[in-house]
Amino acid sequence: MKVRQISERKAINDVASTTANATLSHVATKLGALKIGCLVVLDAQGGLCGILSERDIVRAVGEQGSGCLDQPVSSVMTRNVMTCTPDDSAASILERMSAGRFRHMPVMEGDTVISLVSIGDMVKAKIEELEQDNEAMETMIRSGVA
Ligand code: AMP
Repeated sequence: MKVRQISERKAINDVASTTANATLSHVATKLGALKIGCLVVLDAQGGLCGILSERDIVRAVGEQGSGCLDQPVSSVMTRNVMTCTPDDSAASILERMSAGRFRHMPVMEGDTVISLVSIGDMVKAKIEELEQDNEAMETMIRSGVA
């Protein structure tokens, strides 16, 4: 299975983003309202300049207290973002996510972020694939093909 099959289920304008100068408080509100765990950080030209997950906010609050919520996203975001393309295999993405211990990956077309896949999306797609294989096998067995 390719990342394309997973990311195509999400509309392009579903990629939730923020900017480096937004406050952590603003981002926490946005994550809560959208019921998601991660935002891509885009620069003025729409280019990817970082990623910020709920974990970054929790870590900052744990280390510095709630006063850090007035700080900008740039103070805690991860700048070295691992990305993938629609043609990457889902298996390779899962491997990179578990090796890097993160759960989100922007999907790029050139310099443009076209989607953001989460480990939850990948696991859900994998389970659906296994269920389809299972059903196909059951049908074959019932019809005496196997
Ligand atoms: P997550 O497990 O995705 O909530 O994120 C855990 C940590 O990894 C946080 O510090 C994120 O900023 C960072 N992170 C999340 N996704 C990526 C990614 N694709 N590339 C690099 N770092 C990431």
